[in-house]
Amino acid sequence: MNSLLRHLPQVEAVLQTPAMLTLIDTYSRDEVVTALRLSLASLRADLLAGRVQDLPDFDGDAFAASLEKAMGASRSANLRPVVNATGIIIHTNLGRARLAPEALRAMHDIGVRPSNLELNLATGKRGSRHDHTAALICELTGAESALVVNNCAAAVVLALTGTAAGRKVIASRGELIEIGGSFRLPDVIAQSGATLKEVGSTNKTRLSDYADAIDGDTAVLLKSHTSNFRIVGFTAAPSRTDLARLAAEQGVILMEDLGSGVLIDLSPYGLTDEPIVRDILDAGVDLVMFSGDKLLGGPQAGIIAGRADLIDELRKHPLARAVRIDKLSLAALEATLRLYRAPFDPLARIPVLQMLSQPLVEVQARAENLAQALQDLDGLNVSVARSSAFVGGGALPQQSLASFSVRLDGGAARAADAIADALRHGHTPVVGRIHQGRLWLDMRTVTDPEVSMIVTACRALFAR
Ligand SMILES: *Cc1c(COP(=O)(O)O)cnc(C)c1O
Repeated sequence: MNSLLRHLPQVEAVLQTPAMLTLIDTYSRDEVVTALRLSLASLRADLLAGRVQDLPDFDGDAFAASLEKAMGASRSANLRPVVNATGIIIHTNLGRARLAPEALRAMHDIGVRPSNLELNLATGKRGSRHDHTAALICELTGAESALVVNNCAAAVVLALTGTAAGRKVIASRGELIEIGGSFRLPDVIAQSGATLKEVGSTNKTRLSDYADAIDGDTAVLLKSHTSNFRIVGFTAAPSRTDLARLAAEQGVILMEDLGSGVLIDLSPYGLTDEPIVRDILDAGVDLVMFSGDKLLGGPQAGIIAGRADLIDELRKHPLARAVRIDKLSLAALEATLRLYRAPFDPLARIPVLQMLSQPLVEVQARAENLAQALQDLDGLNVSVARSSAFVGGGALPQQSLASFSVRLDGGAARAADAIADALRHGHTPVVGRIHQGRLWLDMRTVTDPEVSMIVTACRALFAR
């Protein structure tokens, strides 16, 4: 049986066969290589398990036909990959953060085989799924303890319900935010069974406003990161340190709905307005809630980090069971968090951070490569222009990242929205942005392999 393994075709050799070269031309090399590896892996598994007893002679055409069928099936799925050429790195409609290969590998391993999800291997007794990430989160944020749930919205609901149900939550009028999907803080507070006490005004809230509002029935001072808008001009808000001192004096909990949740300093890349989780906890905030799939760059998840006694209570709350994280997300989250530790460089390994820190010259080179590859298409005018990319995901709405885009102009024959429409309907949908009557494809959110997918998509639309 093992001798048969040696006769399995080699990836590189198969890719050179004429039938495969045709496939690569029609689809993309990346997609064909992925399908090929999957197909060879399943053949190998069949051989190892004895489900297949011998290997017929390799037939390039038949093999290519079966791969094309498999690729066709994966394309006809409702939920499928697209090329994000919008320039918005964390695009909620396009699935937010791309995962690092390490995170995907972890999901694969934990998905195809049983795991110690809730088994303590040291004792043989029941374990907790939270144990796999809590220590890592504490190490990376300085928190005493941590809890991971389904998403940040669930983290906020659990934290408020677990600490303030039947009591009062004090929040500034300037921070009563609505994030996407009708998630409004006043409604969430009501849902958690707490009563909201608003203090201050839209633009100014002072420490004394909080202090005056605290009474024997107050459980929580809630701070929220105004992540998707800014109030500028005549504004004031007390510092976290002052709020933390007040909360401690009055025996109430200070918590913060942070949203994006960045773990490292991004100011070298011009992003200065996003508070770092560690700094928030250092300032004395008792509990902070943030997302897994925004700037952290991992899977959908909600993290609650902070005081151990409070986290313990939240873990035991019945709602924690209803909003618990699934094993695949947990596997991806742990793998992503590990990339933040030495010897790894998160900026090099985590796609979201890679994209936002990528040197402008590299983005420009990608734009020029794409423009070059599209130069010979009839009826399409192609140019490269400077553009602005954004972090997205409700983070840093006002801070743009310098970028380059390829502009597609179909002239009178083909309006920008018609081109955009056609590219969305292609084999691999490409999503760009219409601006000044042209379709702009921003290259900060596109990877090099995706450039060839864009080329293939455009070739299908315009003759050479
Ligand atoms: C994005 C965001 C949330 C919700 O996070 P999800 O992980 O999408 O549930 C909550 N609060 C703030 C401030 C946010 O920006």
